[in-house]
Amino acid sequence: MRRERGQTAAKGVTFFTVSPTTPPTSASAAAYHAAMVSPDPQALARQRLLGKYRVVASPHVPPLAAADHLNLVAVILLAFDGQALRTAGVSAACAELCRQYDRYAARLPQEIAVADTHVRLRIACTAGCSHCCLAPVTVIAPEAVAIAEYIDTTFSAEQKLALALRLASYHVPPDERGAPDSMCPLNVEGLCSVYEVRPFNCRRFHSLDLQACLRFFRARTGDLAEVLQEPYRMDRFGVFWHSADVAFTALGIDTRDLDFIPALTIAIAEPGAEQLFASDSAFAAAAHYSDE
Ligand code: SF4
Repeated sequence: MRRERGQTAAKGVTFFTVSPTTPPTSASAAAYHAAMVSPDPQALARQRLLGKYRVVASPHVPPLAAADHLNLVAVILLAFDGQALRTAGVSAACAELCRQYDRYAARLPQEIAVADTHVRLRIACTAGCSHCCLAPVTVIAPEAVAIAEYIDTTFSAEQKLALALRLASYHVPPDERGAPDSMCPLNVEGLCSVYEVRPFNCRRFHSLDLQACLRFFRARTGDLAEVLQEPYRMDRFGVFWHSADVAFTALGIDTRDLDFIPALTIAIAEPGAEQLFASDSAFAAAAHYSDE
């Protein structure tokens, strides 16, 4: 096949016309040809996975983010696909979702300027600050299983016993702001004991206003809307969450919102149990927040 150099367009884009006999005559033509005969193998693998699992893209993701969305779905599926056991695959997929989000969030600024003012707001979250851990958290089943597996494989016997006691005495708070005695049982002396694999909702939550957190979570006054969050993270969070939903749905896994602590208690009772994914009823007792 012959490629003839055509014209160089404005903005430096080179066009080629194709005719059947002469080989490429320039380095750029050769590069173009190489790209045509050797497409990105990773992109091909991702495309194959989307087909293998019959992925249906989320209608909730804006068109501009559609390519990123499908890429994320494929990356999550790829992590799952590399594991022999379903539970191990689910843990790997959750870990990949978190890795992708952390990588994204790390590139965002810690400080934002408020439009039309000289005010600058900085992310107020620091290690040891855990006011938001008073509030109930929702997860999906894969997260509960991944966290249970992490606890099973990394906690000492003493840590497991102490956690079991905290789980047994956990008081489920009556509303979204929590209650003074409703600290998450995973929080130990102000630090998250499963920080590496903490739920996605914990991972993405942050605040630009410590005082608003104190009012809402501790004093139980004020409004959650006063706990300002950084808009780029908030905007992108939806794409990550819908991508996880699409990927796990494609794997035939329940993605209803579950109350974290009851779901974790169920998953801890049967670490690594494949039957946790065998039916929608395995986590029924934790499906307080189900939107079905
Ligand atoms: S899982 Fe960790 S970050 Fe989330 S509420 Fe519990 S202690 Fe806090």
